[in-house]
Amino acid sequence: MMLSGIVAVYHLWLHVSQTTVALTLLMLVLFLAAKWGLRYAVATSIAATVCYNFYFLPPIGTFTISDPQNWLGLFAFLTVSVVGSRLSERAREEAEEARVRQRELEVLYGLSRELLQTENVASLLNAISPAVMLVTRADAVVLYLLDGSRRYMAGDSSAIQMDDVGLRQLSQTLPAPDMVGAQARVPLRVGVRPRGLLLMSGVSLSMETLEAMGGLISVSIDREQALEDVSRGEAAKESERLRSLMIDSITHELRTPLTAIKAAASTLLLPKALEPEEQRELLTVIDEESDRLNRLVSEAVEMAQLDTQEVHMTFAPMSVEEMVRQAMENCSSLLEGREVKVSLPKLPPVMADREFITKVLTNLIENATKYSDAGTPIFLSAERKGEMVNVSVADRGMGIDLSEQSLIFERFYRASVPGQQTSGTGMGLAISRAIIEAHRGTLSVTSQLGEGSVFSFTLPVAGDGLMS
Ligand code: ADP
Repeated sequence: MMLSGIVAVYHLWLHVSQTTVALTLLMLVLFLAAKWGLRYAVATSIAATVCYNFYFLPPIGTFTISDPQNWLGLFAFLTVSVVGSRLSERAREEAEEARVRQRELEVLYGLSRELLQTENVASLLNAISPAVMLVTRADAVVLYLLDGSRRYMAGDSSAIQMDDVGLRQLSQTLPAPDMVGAQARVPLRVGVRPRGLLLMSGVSLSMETLEAMGGLISVSIDREQALEDVSRGEAAKESERLRSLMIDSITHELRTPLTAIKAAASTLLLPKALEPEEQRELLTVIDEESDRLNRLVSEAVEMAQLDTQEVHMTFAPMSVEEMVRQAMENCSSLLEGREVKVSLPKLPPVMADREFITKVLTNLIENATKYSDAGTPIFLSAERKGEMVNVSVADRGMGIDLSEQSLIFERFYRASVPGQQTSGTGMGLAISRAIIEAHRGTLSVTSQLGEGSVFSFTLPVAGDGLMS
């Protein structure tokens, strides 16, 4: 069409030199080579040579050529157009190949990004098929794992029909990725052992890309498994450490009062008569120490119940003033003679379980009195922070070393203070934190050794108070 157009224009209307005609025809040939490929370009260049000879080389209107120079011209035209079209065909092919490669790289990059986003093996396995489908635009994807004969599908499941026996066999025998029609089959391996298979329908990808996809999927499964193993190992180590800490502490904590009780009882049982005063002293030891044992056991039971969420809490709006008053009353004997500075602005009620939350505040006040000198003040304050109320208990006591600040919330942990012997079980803060967390709040500490400590917990503002 275009060829006859050019020939007609130049032959009938515009009378230009033979060179112009030859160059225009050459341009057409190169254009076709770039657009449609070599075959069309060669056919057109032969047709163009014939037309050029017939219409423009003298004698015009015949296929004969009179001037030997024109023979040369015609031959040059044919050669240039064939070589030129070959070159532009190659450029076209390379551009096409670059585009395909870019697309395949995008597929690999997209896949690796998708596969890095999961958090455990189970969610990774569920994510692989949809991720492959998304990045390759396949109609259907099946990931099959030999281990447990598991299948993960995405897309139109009827597009890939193969039963477990077929999948198992293929996983074990397929040596390398291949394409059967528009279905790609990629073996997955652990080292050299077969692990499973990835089937994709409606894709066209190079073997290299399929191989890389197989590798990427296998590596991501390995990686996730390794991460899971590591964290499981760490959790086991941590729970082992806590257990031995707990056993150490329980044996120590239980043994101390028991030893005292035993010693007092044995002395009382001696045939030698004791002064009534001595007797009374020993009985007091037995009384106090059995109280301590009792407390220890009930705290351990309470902690275990909080752990297994067997404790029932009733959340209701409660005023912070009421909470503070109740807790101070609980510690009245400890607070005797101590300066307590309370600063409570007007606050909305908080959502809390009256009994449990008072226990937390009581524990914090007790600790503040226990771990600071009698002459120093204790500060109780509260303030609203958005939808939470923050309650703080501060002291000017010995403070807690930074390295121990997170440990003191662990059960049975008691900070090591040389030369200081205070009674306690190391359970108070662990229980308090569990209670506060059940209230959807947080319990934390800021402290500086030698300066004092501030323990704060947050509680959600009760529904009615949210407006104010
Ligand atoms: P207990 O007081 O029975 O030992 P807790 O769980 O209440 O157990 O506290 C754990 C540890 O945290 C205490 O042994 C103590 O070392 C440290 N601690 C708690 N409160 C304070 C405080 N206000 N100042 C300094 N140290 C504290």
